[in-house]
Amino acid sequence: MPVLNRAAELHDEVAGWRRHIHAHPELGFELPQTANFVADRLREFGCDQVETGVGQSGIVAVIRGSRGEGPAIGLRADMDALPIVETSGAGHASGTRGIMHACGHDGHTAMLLGAAKYLAETRNFAGTCVLIFQPAEEIGQGAKAMIGDGMLERFGIERVFGMHNLPGLKEGTFAIKPAGIMGSVSRFTLKVKGVGGHAARPNVTVDPIVVASQIILALQTIVSRNTDPVSPVVVSVTSIAAGTAFNIIPEQAEMLGTVRTLEAAQVEQTRAAIERVTRGIATAHGATVAFEFDNPASVTFNHSAETDLAAQVAADVAGETGIDREARPVLAGEDFSHMLVARPGALIFIGNGKSAGLHHPAYDFNDAIIPQGISYWVRLTEAALKPAS
Ligand SMILES: [Zn+2]
Ligand SMILES: [Zn+2]
Repeated sequence: MPVLNRAAELHDEVAGWRRHIHAHPELGFELPQTANFVADRLREFGCDQVETGVGQSGIVAVIRGSRGEGPAIGLRADMDALPIVETSGAGHASGTRGIMHACGHDGHTAMLLGAAKYLAETRNFAGTCVLIFQPAEEIGQGAKAMIGDGMLERFGIERVFGMHNLPGLKEGTFAIKPAGIMGSVSRFTLKVKGVGGHAARPNVTVDPIVVASQIILALQTIVSRNTDPVSPVVVSVTSIAAGTAFNIIPEQAEMLGTVRTLEAAQVEQTRAAIERVTRGIATAHGATVAFEFDNPASVTFNHSAETDLAAQVAADVAGETGIDREARPVLAGEDFSHMLVARPGALIFIGNGKSAGLHHPAYDFNDAIIPQGISYWVRLTEAALKPAS
């Protein structure tokens, strides 16, 4: 029986929670309704401990197994939404204009709540299951905040597991791979400072727009000429702002951009290349440049033993044809990566079927995959915390 009977029984109730959370989306760390809803459910289930306010607004619940002593594992879901105007037209669509659950975190939260209900009833494992409901994934700060609050030590978490839905992957199937499965996310700001003046007298100015234009084109050579061609890197300038009128050469041009990689070592190499190219071009024109670079999400790096365990559990739930063990990685980021830096673990994708893409205004989480998601969490807990027989 691939999907657990009890998980199938919970389907309607969990779908109801999912739609409730979807209709009341909240952003970043400001999740009063969502966090209260989650904490209330966890207390109702009879979890041994429910801690609120971990990493500002995260929630951690503890369920102890009834099959003896054992280690503690962490199962993580994210709770925050995105600043997008929803166009799904669903009956449970966002009641707050300009905010929506376009990444399926409503579904992740509901499925982990369903697993918590099941695990609190059955407790058929040895050790401790720690349920982690994280804020502020979309702004890349929630995982760091919970780790910084001492969560991993306080709850003795030794291994961590995450799940994210994936549109386009067949409904209710799973995909995973060892090593990098999601990209490192870096962002940079470049402020080119020139000398402004009258547009009719460019000879007495240093035009930052011309310098910025050359920088943007030169940055395209980093991936084509500098980085290892068998290791993917993205360098994109995604915003440029300069000037106020047709007859003024401005003082400054500001650019924003992002770097994505699948290998941690590529981050610093690419950062250094951007700085070198940018400063060289600015100097050549008599301009200066201020360069800022940070790395809000590391590579989401799946550890091999935990990846094997997760894949086996997914195969138990969805059958051998329902698990792709060599998933194609994506260069979008996931701040669960910080937990995987601190502890061994693995992130798995669950297929959302044919839906609009993540972060699209018409996206909606597919409630049909809830039993598979719950079954994965339950079986993973029972497999990772197997009693000595
Ligand atoms: Zn997202
Ligand atoms: Zn997401």
